[in-house]
Amino acid sequence: MSYSSMPGNFFEQQLAALKEQGLLRDLTVFPNVEDEGPPDKKISLNFSSNDYLGLARDQRLKDAAAAAVNRFGSGATASRLLAGNLKITEELEADLARMMGTEAALVFGSGFLTNLGVISAVTDAEDEIYSDWLNHASIIDGIRLSHARRLRYRHKDLAHLESLLKSSTTRGKRIIVSESLFSMDGDIAPVKGLVELAEHYQALLILDEAHAVGIFGKGGGICRREDIGIQPDIVVGTLSKALGGYGGFVACSPRIRDFLINRARSFIYSTGLPPACIASAREAVTIIISNPEIGTKLLDKARRFRNHLEAAGFRLPTFESQIIQIPIGSNEKAIQFSKLVIDQGLYVRAIRPPTVPPGTARVRLSMTLSMTEPSLKKAATIMAEAARETGLIK
Ligand code: PMP
Repeated sequence: MSYSSMPGNFFEQQLAALKEQGLLRDLTVFPNVEDEGPPDKKISLNFSSNDYLGLARDQRLKDAAAAAVNRFGSGATASRLLAGNLKITEELEADLARMMGTEAALVFGSGFLTNLGVISAVTDAEDEIYSDWLNHASIIDGIRLSHARRLRYRHKDLAHLESLLKSSTTRGKRIIVSESLFSMDGDIAPVKGLVELAEHYQALLILDEAHAVGIFGKGGGICRREDIGIQPDIVVGTLSKALGGYGGFVACSPRIRDFLINRARSFIYSTGLPPACIASAREAVTIIISNPEIGTKLLDKARRFRNHLEAAGFRLPTFESQIIQIPIGSNEKAIQFSKLVIDQGLYVRAIRPPTVPPGTARVRLSMTLSMTEPSLKKAATIMAEAARETGLIK
């Protein structure tokens, strides 16, 4: 008998424990692709997609990807340091640097791999990494790989961060790392304050703009917003959300790019991105650069939807971005709410620990550009009814 079929084995125990805590995850086939699924279960609005600008199904991106496959094939065939570095890969990097307002950029396999590679590469064991409590799993894992000492500061709390920096005794470097737009809460980090603290305490600053790229600052992220205009040492981004494809990248100086090519293990020891991903990302960047207000349109829509939700009875955190959080707390209620609204054609998934801290289950509404005003008004009414049935609002 194999280990995994023995009664009470590790896998069986783990799955039973997750089920008991209401934390068991499973994969659901998304029912809206090419009219799959029964007609009464049709999804009219998808609030669980990070394709914020609707580019993933844009004909221009599809054509660019198809042309690249026909010309270069389906895969990059090797690591970029061997035979996997195409001319279009470097052209994409030049385009990304232009959008991000930096001198250079370097593409990685995914946003997750970017954080793993960058954070572990720039740290030595004697360094200290100052990390926001709510940073993404890829940042947390990058820190683990680095062997540096991790100090977590309370979410967006500059005073707490400064008190930790002040009492630092390390002989190594200090590194501050934060998301700019927090993926699960939709709130924005005090990026100016982070830059000031980094300068004052001579720390390196890494800012993850995964959810802000393409939307804020004419596509360049929160750092490039006109009222902010700062430049962290390293900005991490992804090609997988507003850019509608797959892959990750860093926007930085040419010197840091050279360094990462030599030291970031997830870059060195992994195959280059497929040509289709490179070509569709180039097209997305071109579209964003030539439509600098595209992100603002999305944010206006999100603001109006949030107002509809409040008018319908929800009490919500202040508006900050295209990610709107409905706080719930209990895992079970979050699941119940999600099931009720999915039945009504709104694709809203519950977000539970460990993705978010224990006791803070929620639904996270991702707004996308194609959502229309009348459908959003209707969605707010449906969500309010479901919230009343679940006992979330009166
Ligand atoms: N950083 C943040 C803040 C994210 O939310 C995510 C994706 N959820 C990533 C990095 C990873 O990006 P990717 O999906 O391209 O791996």
